[in-house]
Amino acid sequence: MMQPPWWMAGVPFSCQPNCGKCCDEPGGIVYLRPEDAEIMSSHHNLQVEEWLERDCRQTLDGRWILKSDPVTDICIYLDEEKKCTTYEARPAQCRSYPFWAENVRSDRSWKKTVDECPGLDSEEAFIISGDTIRTKIIQDRDATRGFRKWPPKR
Ligand code: SF4
Repeated sequence: MMQPPWWMAGVPFSCQPNCGKCCDEPGGIVYLRPEDAEIMSSHHNLQVEEWLERDCRQTLDGRWILKSDPVTDICIYLDEEKKCTTYEARPAQCRSYPFWAENVRSDRSWKKTVDECPGLDSEEAFIISGDTIRTKIIQDRDATRGFRKWPPKR
């Protein structure tokens, strides 16, 4: 039988207020699931096409991603206090951090993630269950797959 992955036993984590470190990286890319585009556009009172046109751009291979600030190259939704201005509607990739497939993949990548994210090494951290982590990993994978056309082929 296959061994369950190490994170299945649960991982202590608590996102830290006013941290924003995971969003505050120039050159970060936020891929979108079709559901994310629907939630974000309705949150901004726009049609999906209008929102894609206004707040998103396409990668070279055509996947829709959030736009970055042309000067700082940081997500357009992160404000000066490092707060996400669309937090309630934020896409799955943002919600699932730090439990991204690429982060849990190896000891090395996880160690790097723990160094990056103070929420994984905090006194207030509480255990995130293996099932929740699995859901986050799947959502991050779906986001990375992305979509290229609207309406998307489902
Ligand atoms: S780096 Fe970790 S603690 Fe900081 S905002 Fe991101 S998820 Fe929260």
